[in-house]
Amino acid sequence: MPPRLSAPARREQLLEVALEIFARQGFHGTSMNDVADAAGVTKPVLYQHFESKREMYLALLEDVGNQLITRIAKATSEAPDGKAQTEAGIIDLFVCDYRSGELRGYVRFDSGRLATETSLPSLFSLFGKGYLAITFDQAMTKERYQGIVPLEGSSLAEAAQHFFSQSEQIPSLVRLAVNDTGHIAGGILLQHLPEGEEGRERLHTRLDHPEWEHVRILAETIRAAELVDSALPLENLLWRLFHEEEEVRILSTIPLSKGCRCSLEYVREVIARFGPEEREQMVDDDGFISVDCEFCSRLFPIKLSDLDA
Ligand SMILES: [Zn+2]
Repeated sequence: MPPRLSAPARREQLLEVALEIFARQGFHGTSMNDVADAAGVTKPVLYQHFESKREMYLALLEDVGNQLITRIAKATSEAPDGKAQTEAGIIDLFVCDYRSGELRGYVRFDSGRLATETSLPSLFSLFGKGYLAITFDQAMTKERYQGIVPLEGSSLAEAAQHFFSQSEQIPSLVRLAVNDTGHIAGGILLQHLPEGEEGRERLHTRLDHPEWEHVRILAETIRAAELVDSALPLENLLWRLFHEEEEVRILSTIPLSKGCRCSLEYVREVIARFGPEEREQMVDDDGFISVDCEFCSRLFPIKLSDLDA
């Protein structure tokens, strides 16, 4: 008999198990049976929590997404087991979010452990056994693509490249660089455009396409110093790489700026999802639930009595 868990604890356990399996087998390769077996429950129990595989997947993404966006300061209790400790990296959460030219990011890390690193830490010592999740929310079509893959490779750039080739099946080249001060970062994402038609395989691209090889090799000549040279316009950089090609087209660019879109309404909505007892536990001595936006550090103090109104 599997141990009896309370409904929220069971749901959380099922999502945790599902995350592992989706990351390993992908959405189509995962069945409700796989998740039920791995979680040690029967299928009816799984269906009590999620009506379908799709619903479970969406719940998972929402769950991951919520964890990324806000932290309920008092609602977290930390009790890592031995396994979690050996597989945990210095960073336990790293997220960035881009919309219409605005970029925001957040990293949660153990500064004590980072200080003990003598050389540049590897991707594994930074993130441990982690996952890379990417969501494309297309404002124009209202479509949402999401993918989760195990974090693999020796750098974040390699992990992203791996994501595009594994999860999206798009041949890609990703290079990232940071200058000596750590204050300027730059990167390049080179991608093969899809050749597929509607109804066929979504992207008919070939890793061994001779033109892709040619373009990739040229792009690989880019140096880190060029990526972080703020005096070097992007157009010039492209020209350096591809000036011998027959045609290079430059589309209008969107300038990048720092921005956040947190709001009191959103935070209230998140708090409202917790039960009355849990909310009670979050209240501080002054009668407020304090939630801070981890992206921009803005603090939202919410009075418990206002929530019930
Ligand atoms: Zn914010």
